[in-house]
Amino acid sequence: MRIGIPKGLLYYRYHAFFETFFSKLGSEIIVSEQTNKDILDMGVQFCVDEACLPVKVFHGHAASIKDRCDYLIIPRIMSVCIKEYICPKFCGLPEMIIHSIPRVPKVSVEPLYMRNEKELFRWCLSSGSVVTKDSAVIKRAFISAVTAQKKGRAGINEQGRKLTVMLAGHPYIIYDDYLNMGIINKLRAKGIGIITEESVGDGETREEVKKLVKKPFWTFQRRVFGAACVLLRQKLIDGIIYLSSFACGIDSVIIDLIRHFIGNFPMLVIKLDEHTGEAGVDTRVEAFIDMLERRVFNENYNPSPRECVFSGQNPV
Ligand code: SF4
Repeated sequence: MRIGIPKGLLYYRYHAFFETFFSKLGSEIIVSEQTNKDILDMGVQFCVDEACLPVKVFHGHAASIKDRCDYLIIPRIMSVCIKEYICPKFCGLPEMIIHSIPRVPKVSVEPLYMRNEKELFRWCLSSGSVVTKDSAVIKRAFISAVTAQKKGRAGINEQGRKLTVMLAGHPYIIYDDYLNMGIINKLRAKGIGIITEESVGDGETREEVKKLVKKPFWTFQRRVFGAACVLLRQKLIDGIIYLSSFACGIDSVIIDLIRHFIGNFPMLVIKLDEHTGEAGVDTRVEAFIDMLERRVFNENYNPSPRECVFSGQNPV
C-alpha cells in the first residue's frame, strides 16, 4: 500500500505523526516535493479562485502525487484543543480535493480530533484499517507515532543577534520556503534573530488571551496572539513580521487584535498570494529591518532587560 501525504497545510506541524504511523503499519510513504512553481501552478489550476494561497498549494501537492499512491491522507482536522477549533477550511478539505482534482485515489475522510490520545487513536483505527485490520499493529504504530511527534523539535528560537524579530503566522507559510520566499534564510543572512510562537508555552498564551473581551476560537491564532504579547512583554523581540495569506479571514482578525495590543511597537504584515513578487517582499523586509536598526541603535532607546541578550547573558 502506497500512502500519499501532501506536503502542505498542517503537514508542517504533524508530519512526524503521520509519516511514522503509516510507515510503522508497513506502508510505503510518498511525500510530495517541496513547494515549487509547478506545484503552485497545479494548485491554482485545480482549486477554486476564492481559496487562500495555502489551500491552493495543498491542491497542487495532492495533484502532484495522486498517480503514485493508493491512498491519500487529507486530514480533516477539526480541533486540536478542548473548546477550540481550527480554520473551517480544514473541515472541507477532503471534499475540495475529491471534487476539484480528477482521478484522485481513495482519500481519508474521517474527521480528526486531536484533543487527546483517545480521539487521535480513534482516527488511527479508522484510517489505519485501510492498510491492516490488525488492531494490535495499529496500536503499536500509534504509540510510535505519538512518541515521534512529541520528540520533534518545533519552532525557531534564535536570540543573541543584533536584532530579534518574531516571525508570526501559519506554520504552513513560515516553514514553506517557497511560499515565504526564503524569508528565514534572508533574515539569518542579515544577522537577525528569529523567534516563532512555538517558543512560548501554551499556558502563557492562555493567560494573555484572558485580556480579550472574547477568546479566539482558533487554536493556532490564539497561540500567535498570546506569544506576540508574551515576547513583547518580556522584551525579547524588537519587531514582529507577520506572514499572512491573502483572503485569510482568521488572519484579518488576529492581526488587528495584535495591533491593538502592541500599540506603536513595529509590526510588518506581508500578505502573500500567488501573484506576490519576491522583489517586493525583499524591499519591504529590508526597509523594516533598517527602521528597526534606527529605532534600537540610533534613537532614544530605553535600556531594558532586553539588553542582556546582546551581552550573551540569559535574557530572562
Ligand atoms: S487559516 Fe487562513 S490561511 Fe489557513 S487555511 Fe484557513 S483561510 Fe487559509
